[in-house]
Amino acid sequence: DTNEFDQILNKCLNELSGVEDDGFSIEKTLSAVRELVKESHDIRSSTRHFKSQLHEAQAEIVQLRETLLETQHDAMHDSLTGLLNRRVFSKEIESFCSNPSLNRTFSILMVDIDNFKNFNDDFGHQLGDQVLKAIAKRLADSCQEGEQVFRYGGEEFVLILPNKHFTIARQNAESIRRAIERLSIRDKRSGQLIDNITVSIGVSENKPRDSSHDILTRADLQLYEAKRLGRNRVMPMPMPR
Ligand code: GH3
Ligand code: MG
Ligand code: MG
Repeated sequence: DTNEFDQILNKCLNELSGVEDDGFSIEKTLSAVRELVKESHDIRSSTRHFKSQLHEAQAEIVQLRETLLETQHDAMHDSLTGLLNRRVFSKEIESFCSNPSLNRTFSILMVDIDNFKNFNDDFGHQLGDQVLKAIAKRLADSCQEGEQVFRYGGEEFVLILPNKHFTIARQNAESIRRAIERLSIRDKRSGQLIDNITVSIGVSENKPRDSSHDILTRADLQLYEAKRLGRNRVMPMPMPR
């Protein structure tokens, strides 16, 4: 419409400029003016229509932008606990192990809830979910700047502690273990207070040229050892003084 209007406008203006130069008759002049007025009306209604379409498109863009942000957030987070998910963890640990500028000391903690299957069997899945959320919150609260916690699997979590050597990471793990031991949750159905929730934690520090698989395997072995020795503990044990 705009292109067409532009052409007609040029044509009419040419004609009107001929009024003085070529001495156009009043009839011819009026006809050019009439055409100009009609086309101006038409373009005005087209513009209005276009404006309302533009408003609709703008509202749609805002909506799509929100949906995109939500989708991006959902792709990165676990819906139950709100923690970052395993997909993000895999990328992070890969970049920690493969990027030379990031390949400084860092440690990871593998955290696994003890006897959680029994807990679900005894108290129900819903209360189990509540426990997962409470533990996730404790873990997130324990993170200092730059540290990240992820939901690794069902009742397993993993933390990346950049710039932390094994000894300090182990102390962190120990205070996490104690904080979770102190957790108490009320079972709404029975009114019973549940205060025997514990976790086992495997700790490992990166070594030069470690792959993500290497560091995870070491943490996993330590976690396995913590379970074997009776649970509710951090492995490896501190070195005797
Ligand atoms: P262990 O001390 O050896 O780790 O024993 P466990 O019972 O914790 O380990 P197991 O691997 O046998 O069981 C894990 C349980 O975690 C089983 C599953 O029902 C529970 N679980 C996993 N994801 C969820 C979840 O999203 N919600 C709830 N409520 N339970 C979950
Ligand atoms: Mg497990
Ligand atoms: Mg477990």
